Amino acid sequence: MSGIKGTRAVDRRGRPLRDLRISVIDRCNFRCTYCMPAEVFGPGYPFLPPSALLSFAELTRLVRAFVALGVEKVRITGGEPLLRSGLERWIEDLAAIPEIRDIALTTNGVLLAKKAKALKAAGLRRVNVSLDSLDPVTFGRMNGRGTAPDVVLRGIEAAIDAGLQVKVNMVVKRGENERDILPMARYFKALGVTLRFIEFMDVGTANGWEMRDVVPSREILERIHAEMPLEPLEPAYYGEVAKRYRYKDGTAEVGFISSVTQAFCNTCTRARLSADGKLYTCLFAADGFDLRRLLREGADDETLRAAIRSVWAGRTDRYSELRLQATEAAQKAGAARKKIEMFYIGG
Ligand code: SAM
Repeated sequence: MSGIKGTRAVDRRGRPLRDLRISVIDRCNFRCTYCMPAEVFGPGYPFLPPSALLSFAELTRLVRAFVALGVEKVRITGGEPLLRSGLERWIEDLAAIPEIRDIALTTNGVLLAKKAKALKAAGLRRVNVSLDSLDPVTFGRMNGRGTAPDVVLRGIEAAIDAGLQVKVNMVVKRGENERDILPMARYFKALGVTLRFIEFMDVGTANGWEMRDVVPSREILERIHAEMPLEPLEPAYYGEVAKRYRYKDGTAEVGFISSVTQAFCNTCTRARLSADGKLYTCLFAADGFDLRRLLREGADDETLRAAIRSVWAGRTDRYSELRLQATEAAQKAGAARKKIEMFYIGG
């Protein structure tokens, strides 16, 4: 259907609604220590039952409502999105919505070797693959499952071969995988793949976040630049999250996502939908708006759009900016306050 565009939703700080991140499942096949530590998310953990997840038909209706309010980019995430069966078929439906300029997927890459071709054929353009180390011991410890980096590297190769655009995301945690920064940079530079460094964030309440565990992007940039000179690039579009640099020899790019040391709330255009249909307007939010209830009570499209518009119009979130301004004591209090988990809301 063309012409589903309505009037753009804009929040109280003048930020338009442009991106939608959808968590299609809260389960994951990894137990990353900084996201879903195994001691908290053990075999008895009450993940959402299948009936609580939005169906693909429900998801498509919501996506259309978001598109009518200005969304142009959709990112599929989780949990681990490739664990959701039928995903490729749903991506075909999304790809048929002409107003969506970009469909991307964030994955840990474990199932990518198996699924890359089908994802590409369904209309997916890009994948971001998370990989925190090339060292089997460090990576196995960080992913909480002992999985070797080779498994993910094979997924990355398969994605490239299938014609998907690939970026790699590395979360850097002090004392955990700092020594992997340069080996990762060298490896992906040689492959011509963009590597993005993500500062360890205080999302959720399970990862024991402390400011001293954050390796600031500036420090990472300096380490890489000393060995492989970099030059900054202009942002590709308004609200681009990563600060981008190019190796001076033109081989590849790197990016820095610095939500702790250089907050980017003032240009944040992202809404997030949890796997059970709650709408969140910030990664660090405590509560979401229940769109699944509206859907299952039989709301029509106009009602859905009005609800989303009203949530977005009331949005004032700027958690990372406030964290940056806060004292250390307030940061500790912030880390302890109620926040939703990243695997639930989607990264
Ligand atoms: N399972 C998929 C994956 O691994 O990419 C998608 C979901 S995962 C929550 C999305 C991204 O969030 C991953 O790149 C992960 O490393 C990142 N992430 C999770 N917890 C984080 C934290 N506390 N700080 C920074 N990044 C985090």
